[in-house]
Parts: sequence; C-alpha cells; structure tokens
Amino acid sequence: MTVRTAWAACPKGTSVMLMRDRLDVVFADEDFAHLYPVNGRPGFSPGQLALVSVLQFAENLSDRAAADAVRTRIDWKYGLGLELDDPGFDYSLLSEFRARLAEGNRADQLLQLMLDRLVAAGLLKGRGRQRTDATHVLAAVRRLSRLELAGESVRAALEEISEADSDWLLPLIEPAWAKRYGRKVEIGKVPGGKAAVRGRAEEFGRDGQKLLTAALASDAPPRLRMLRQMEILRQVWIHQYYWDREGQLRWREGTALPPASLRFDSPYDTDAHYCVKRDVEWSGYRVHFTESCDQDLPHLVTHVATTIAPVQDGQLTEKIHDDLAVRRLAPAEHVVDTAYLTPAHVKRAQRVHGITLLGPILADNSRQAKAGSGFDKAAFTIDWDNEQAICPRGATSASWNKLNVSGHTYLQAHFAESDCRPCPDRAQCTSSATRSRSVAVLPRALHEIQTRSRLDQQTDQWQRRYAIRAGIEATLSQNVRAHGLRRSRYRGLTRTHVQHVLTAMACNLSRLADWYDPTPSGRGAPHFRTLCTTAGFAST
Ligand code: SF4
Repeated sequence: MTVRTAWAACPKGTSVMLMRDRLDVVFADEDFAHLYPVNGRPGFSPGQLALVSVLQFAENLSDRAAADAVRTRIDWKYGLGLELDDPGFDYSLLSEFRARLAEGNRADQLLQLMLDRLVAAGLLKGRGRQRTDATHVLAAVRRLSRLELAGESVRAALEEISEADSDWLLPLIEPAWAKRYGRKVEIGKVPGGKAAVRGRAEEFGRDGQKLLTAALASDAPPRLRMLRQMEILRQVWIHQYYWDREGQLRWREGTALPPASLRFDSPYDTDAHYCVKRDVEWSGYRVHFTESCDQDLPHLVTHVATTIAPVQDGQLTEKIHDDLAVRRLAPAEHVVDTAYLTPAHVKRAQRVHGITLLGPILADNSRQAKAGSGFDKAAFTIDWDNEQAICPRGATSASWNKLNVSGHTYLQAHFAESDCRPCPDRAQCTSSATRSRSVAVLPRALHEIQTRSRLDQQTDQWQRRYAIRAGIEATLSQNVRAHGLRRSRYRGLTRTHVQHVLTAMACNLSRLADWYDPTPSGRGAPHFRTLCTTAGFAST
C-alpha cells in the first residue's frame, strides 16, 4: 500500500524513494546491535533511526520535524519501509540515538557502514582520486567577550549550586549578586576605558574567588567540588586571573593569556575555542571533508574529521590517510591545498600508503625570494655527500649544522666571513652589515621533494591536474547552505562530530539521488542536453 500510494503521489519519485529502490536497506538492525543492551532496544528499529537521522540532516530538520516527517511523509515511509499507518516514534529517540553515536567512534562506524554499501554497489572505490578541505563551524553557544565569560562563569556556577545545595549557598550570596548574576550577563561597551573594564573584571574575579574558596574548603560538602560548573569556574579563573605580589587577584592582560587552544570561550561549551584564519574570526570548531572525485563515479564524502578550531589543517593529513587506509579507501592521488602539505607529508603518504599527495608546497619565504631579486635558497647548490653548500659566486660553505626549529630538522650551511665580506654580490645575498650568509635547508629527501614540487607546480600540466581541488569548496558550500554545516547544533566536540558525520551522509544521499536522476528537480531536462543526447553526443 505504501509503495502504490507513494508512486501515485510522486510519479517521478523523490530522492528517498530512489535510494530505497537502488540501495534497498541502507542500515540493517544487526549493524546497531552493539549500541543497545539486549532488553533495552528502542521502540523503533535502530536501522530506521539511523536513516531518519541522515534524512533529517539532508533536509536540515529539527528532531520534532523529522519525527513528524516519519509520521506524515509518504516518501519517507517508502524509504523506511513502513506501513502507511505506522505511527512513527517520539522525537526524543533521535537525540538518544545521537548520544549513543557520540560514544567512542560510533559515528565514524556509521559512515563506514554506508561507504561499505556504496563500495559493494560499485559507486565508490579505493585507489582513485580524492580531495580534502576544511571550513569553520560556529559553536552552538553565544560568543562571549572575556568580561562576559567571567560573569557567565560565575552565573553558571551559581545556577548549578542553587540546584544542588541551595542551603549551603544562601549565606554566601551578596545583595549585589541578584542584579549581577540574576540574568544573562551581557556587557556592551564599558565607559571609562581599560581601567573600568579591569575594575569590572576584578569584581567578577572576587565573586568567583569567594565561591571557589568556600566550595573547596575542607568543611564544604564534597559533592560541590564535583559539580561541572565549579570545575569550569576554577579553570576559567586560572586562565583569566593571577595573584599579584600583594596577594590581590588581577585580570590578565591579553598577552599573558594561555593559548586559544587551551582557554575556554564559554562555560557552556568548553570545547569551543577562538580562532582566526585569514579574514574569518570565530569561536567553535573546524570540520574537514574528504570526498572522492573520480570522473566516472558520483563524488561521495569518504572521511569527516572534526577538531577544535585552532588545530591546523596540516595536523590532520596523516590521520585522514590512516583512516582511509583502514577503510580500504586510500586514494592513489589526494589533492589538497597548501595547509595540508609539507614535504614530510608527501614523503610519508607515498611511503606508508602509496598515496601521491598533490598540492602547492609553501613557497620559499626568504627575503630574496619574496622580493624576486637576490640569491634565494634555490640559487645555492647543495653537495649532500660532502655536507656543503656552494653559493652562486662559487664559494663553499665553511660549516654545516643540524638545527631543530619547532620540531622540524633543518641543515644549516654557514659561509665564511673571509668569503662574504669582500664579495661584490654581498648586497644581493645578505642584508646584514657584519655577518656572512647562511642557508637552512630540509634534510636531503625532503629538500628534493620540495625543490621538485616548487618547479612542477609552475607548469600548466600541474595546474590542470590540481584544478580538480576546487570542487571540494563547492561540496563544503553545499553542506553549509543545504545541510546547516556552518553552525553546530549541539555542544561539545563529540556531538558536533556526530552532526558532521550525519551531514556528510546526507550529502552522499543527495549526491546519489542526483547521480541516479540527474534531471534538476522542478524543471524539465535542459533543452541543450536533451538535444545532445538525441543527436548521440555525450554531455558528460
Ligand atoms: S655573500 Fe658570501 S655566500 Fe653570498 S654570494 Fe658572496 S660569497 Fe657567496
């Protein structure tokens, strides 16, 4: 009855109906046996809950709207294999299902299940081409100034203690606290400049300290120390305040703060961190999508990684390769931008996984290279066997040292003053009036990768090969606009990652629907493509 009614109501089918017809059951209940205890199964099939979660993100619906769609949408019933009179389920089952996915790496296992089905259906393969890029994700919580963070941290702790032990709290409360913390702390511009801001911050500081001292005293109820907001308050105070020599609590200056990756931005989501990338400034997370980009197959998301915002893209390159290898989906060529790529990454990808990592290696940032004049690193010949560098004037370096800069090894060749001081080309080589020139290069294997890549990436052939990377930006844009990727719906890194995985799977569903039925919905087939097809010309 569901099938007959769905086809009568939607004669062209919908993406959900197409999926059901082509892939049958995307998730089976047996796949989720480990999520639920034997006698604790939800009233609704876990396999169907997984598909509803994906459809929910495909249409960017709230939990209530998704549960309503299960009850009222014929095509959803068709996709889920439900009878027309199936009453569906309470919307709270969806958040409970996501909470289970947030444990361990269950969300990634769900994506793995989908990818396995797609590989089995011949829609995805390893050893092809894939591309990766990242975008910023705004936290679900309000962005706070440092002053608001201090005030809100005290307020959140007071709220939690009021609920846990109001009798203990009552004698501590000062009359001014009702006004200060009785409602959301919102602070605009503080008149009086920096001194007034500091005064306000130290007022919050004293209140928070009073609360912490009382709660951590030996005669305080031990459970107060276990309260989440008390621990957050304690950490925020370490990040934002210090004791001066006179024993006064002081507000830290901006330069004395811990790094953004350590300090909290909000007491309500301690995983949300501040970051700036080019002209974008945000507090939240960063998500990395990797998708297949083979010409003869649909482009499908194969890997999703969510990190706190300050984690740099290059820190994810190895993890992406390792995870794809475990899924037996490691590509032959992985196309990325500069942020994911160093000579060390290129070498490891090839050595460990046989992956060609394609992207522009960072340009030489020496003064001479930036100016486009003078003797940059490329102008020096390296004699690796004798551990020497030979400069454009033919002088040989006098010493050869190993350096360690930020965890990276460099080899530094230093030229003798007796060569450099009288050199007629000195102005092109060094800006120092007294010191001779030195050149730092990567170890041999990495230096050769770097030099070769910098030459390759200037050729038209390389540029054409690399042009495919731009497609991942369109994928991220599609996920931001159609599936709500830009803002986290949930608090915390793990739950945000679950959202990102479900979003990626929703993207895959819509890509597959387009692959099976490339006619844009709501319009007829494009006239020109119809003409080409009729005339026997391939349009793709
Ligand atoms: S300044 Fe020293 S290193 Fe530079 S070209 Fe002259 S001799 Fe060679």
